[in-house]
Amino acid sequence: MNTSEYKKFLHTCSKNINDFDVKLFDVDNTVHSVYDNIDKLQLQASKVRQKFVDNIANNLLDFEKNFISNKSYINWCLSYDDFYNSLLKLLDKKKIKSVSIFPSDFNNELSLEKMLKLEGISLFSKDNICSIHEPNFGIVDTGSFLSIFNSIFEMELLLDSKIKIFILPINKFICNISDIDIFAHILSIYKDNAKFPQISNIFTPNSAENKSETHLFIVDNGRSNLLSLKEQKKSLWCINCGACKKVCPVYKLIKDQPYNNSLTGPLANVMLPFLENYDSYKHLSFNSVLCGNCSKVCPVNIPITDLILENRKFFFESKIMNLEDNLLSLGLKKFLISRKNMNRRYWVKKYLLRKMLPNTIKKSIRIPSFSKKTFNQNEQQNKANIE
Ligand code: SF4
Repeated sequence: MNTSEYKKFLHTCSKNINDFDVKLFDVDNTVHSVYDNIDKLQLQASKVRQKFVDNIANNLLDFEKNFISNKSYINWCLSYDDFYNSLLKLLDKKKIKSVSIFPSDFNNELSLEKMLKLEGISLFSKDNICSIHEPNFGIVDTGSFLSIFNSIFEMELLLDSKIKIFILPINKFICNISDIDIFAHILSIYKDNAKFPQISNIFTPNSAENKSETHLFIVDNGRSNLLSLKEQKKSLWCINCGACKKVCPVYKLIKDQPYNNSLTGPLANVMLPFLENYDSYKHLSFNSVLCGNCSKVCPVNIPITDLILENRKFFFESKIMNLEDNLLSLGLKKFLISRKNMNRRYWVKKYLLRKMLPNTIKKSIRIPSFSKKTFNQNEQQNKANIE
């Protein structure tokens, strides 16, 4: 599907969205019953995430220093392939034929279960020798992990296993252990819709105490492509709470299927072209009706709608959009910034605009009307009246 086809598909969706009963996630009621000031909490959480991402390279090195001082092992993986090879090498070296695995978003992104099954590794470990787990955060200043579990059973499974393998994307870290309370609460409210945190655990590896071995795989998987982009870099603040999906009218309608990826929802519209490739995912920057629900609900203040617009601008300026879309955008820009055109009568402007647009667009959307007078004309008239 190219960008034009996708936009046409989306226009059909937006017609349906108008009649669609989107039950918004009632975050205000839930949060206000626990915190008096949700804006303050979001601002604090957002600053903590920004602090880590803005200095990500040094923070990760500090984490490594603290983590390995706890007699643990770290693997840096740039891509899926790096990760697969290093993980399989480790499992082979330790002669591990079965693992206890905890489902998670990042495990899905890495197709971990599928990969292990293909390698003949059982996902049910009777003796619980080895477990594979994605914690919620790595904590830089202590070299430890915050994990929130669905049950005590899950937590014990991890803590009892002799070889613990943790997997984290490069952005799921916070700098200070003193900040975990904010995120434990935020995740319980925004992810689980519960007032108080579920069962949580801070795990600091120490082989002498735990009589177990800890390995960590830090996986980039395209995320560093976002670091050079001032605005889109903010998408790395995400804590995977899923709240933006719950309030997105487009996502409610189209669900996961059109993404053809394990990452879906409003933030995937921003990230996927950079994590995967432009050609297959650039159309996602039109996968939005720009209602702003996602930015409003995000607990770490990611301006998702603005980032979607930034992506459009980036693809336009880098000439990554389809030729047809690029020419149309150029034509529209030329037409709309011309003072001469803007000072024409409103029905002339509408007529000219209709002439410019291709039939596919004219058939699928209602062309908005221009107001009778522009700001410029109103201002000139006001000045004349004063004089
Ligand atoms: S972008 Fe979406 S999933 Fe990520 S923190 Fe914000 S609301 Fe949660």
